[in-house]
Amino acid sequence: MLEKGDNKEYLPIEGLAAFNKATAELLLGADNPVIKQGLVATIQSLSGTGSLRLAAAFIQRYFPEAKVIISSPTWGNHKNIFNDARVPWSEYRYYDPKTVGLDFEGMIADIEAAPEGSFVLLHGCAHNPTGIDPTPEQWEKIADVIQEKKHMPFFDVAYQGFASGSLDEDAFSVRLFVKRGMEVFVAQSYSKNLGLYSERIGAINVVCSAPDIADRVKSQLKRLARPMYSNPPIHGARIVANVVGDPTMFGEWKQEMEEMAGRIKNVRQKLYDSLSAKDQSGKDWSFILRQIGMFSYTGLNKAQSDNMTDKWHVYMTKDGRISLAGLSLAKCDYLADAIIDSFH
Ligand code: PMP
Repeated sequence: MLEKGDNKEYLPIEGLAAFNKATAELLLGADNPVIKQGLVATIQSLSGTGSLRLAAAFIQRYFPEAKVIISSPTWGNHKNIFNDARVPWSEYRYYDPKTVGLDFEGMIADIEAAPEGSFVLLHGCAHNPTGIDPTPEQWEKIADVIQEKKHMPFFDVAYQGFASGSLDEDAFSVRLFVKRGMEVFVAQSYSKNLGLYSERIGAINVVCSAPDIADRVKSQLKRLARPMYSNPPIHGARIVANVVGDPTMFGEWKQEMEEMAGRIKNVRQKLYDSLSAKDQSGKDWSFILRQIGMFSYTGLNKAQSDNMTDKWHVYMTKDGRISLAGLSLAKCDYLADAIIDSFH
């Protein structure tokens, strides 16, 4: 960038054109017909959080009767974002403590029971905090119910490429909804997958049913962004556009993501092996292998999590979530001892 003499002039309100093109293509696949048909309104916004916040402002202004339903549990900031945008929200069942897995029946029942036209906030992949994602078949069923109830799917995609190691695989859920011809909101973040945390790089994409609707949605998103923050940052947007636009760098990035995701999968396997070998109680630890992404719900409650910290000096959130990104293979045996001691 220095060599090219790139400057720091303002971007337009909607952000860097090359970034917006790249980000929609990474999300939906470069030859997705909705892109070719001009059905996607994409605005570069302030990373995942700012993109969610912009969409929340859009909901508040144009869907004043609608409410948002969010998973229980979810990333803590979701509630703050909708509260501050004055968008009413409630929770749908998601986590089942009995199986440390998905409460699929509860989830479907709650989406079904929500008032018609609700926004259903979904984690595109690597659900935070549980690490529990629906299977492809379950995603189909979720899409069925959302379509039947004329709800609006609203995806938060903060970990594309970071869950499975493949950008395409991690976009499966979003693309499935789009392929059905549904209108979809998607907030994207480049904090994790490209390590751009403090550059605040992300986008809000709205897939619409007609090109003129996409034009109007984009124009209204710009009207909302202008008085909030005027225009988004240029430096990280160029990083994304340059990396994606250069075949060598794009290849390197994809390989690094594969390595990161592979390392986390190895740590999961090792932790599972250690727990299964050491625990005499017959408890089934396979939920650890079924979870995906950097987070894992251990199923430990608050008192048990306190024991992890007080006795074993393992520092974790009190809902029982651990970050596998912060765990090495060498520490899995120690962690397994701590978990087994805290459970029993
Ligand atoms: N959504 C989820 C589920 C997240 O975990 C995060 C980051 N922790 C974000 C959105 C937003 O992150 P950022 O604003 O840095 O893109």
